[in-house]
Amino acid sequence: MDCPYCGYPDSKVIDSRDVNEGIRRRRQCLSCGARFTTYERMQPASLFVVKKDGRREEFSRDKLLIGIRRACEKRPLPTGTVDKVVDDIEAELYHLGKPEIPSAVIGDMVMERLKSLDYIAYIRFASVYRDFADITALKREIDTLVSDETKISHPTSQLPLLPDEELGKVAKVRKRSRK
Ligand SMILES: [Zn+2]
Repeated sequence: MDCPYCGYPDSKVIDSRDVNEGIRRRRQCLSCGARFTTYERMQPASLFVVKKDGRREEFSRDKLLIGIRRACEKRPLPTGTVDKVVDDIEAELYHLGKPEIPSAVIGDMVMERLKSLDYIAYIRFASVYRDFADITALKREIDTLVSDETKISHPTSQLPLLPDEELGKVAKVRKRSRK
């Protein structure tokens, strides 16, 4: 690693520590004495995704990120949520230790996570990924979500399909129009 300040090719390590499955090294240039940090990370073995039609494609973190980001667009999720979901899935995929993963497995992992985060993002992702044959199939999925919602109170992180205040507004309007 060349010194980023003077370009000298040699440096000494003055500190190193493990961070997030990698090593962080604090280095000092042997020529100008400047200090800089390098990160060393294991290069994971390449992972292939097997698509529905049998084609193989190298796993792309970016593609996964784009798909999830699209589903979460304009949803009130905390900053970094999408990246966290992608990180989790990526880690889980490499952890499986298989050279090939069916795209359906990845899709299910995404759906499972989105379902616990935000129903709208989940339905958006599902409608693309599951390719709902018709509106009835989509409605069935939404009905399942709604009945889940009434069975167990939704987790604190989950946004309701219709916020209570909006339901209140609707009720008020109805009352008023009846007079
Ligand atoms: Zn230097």
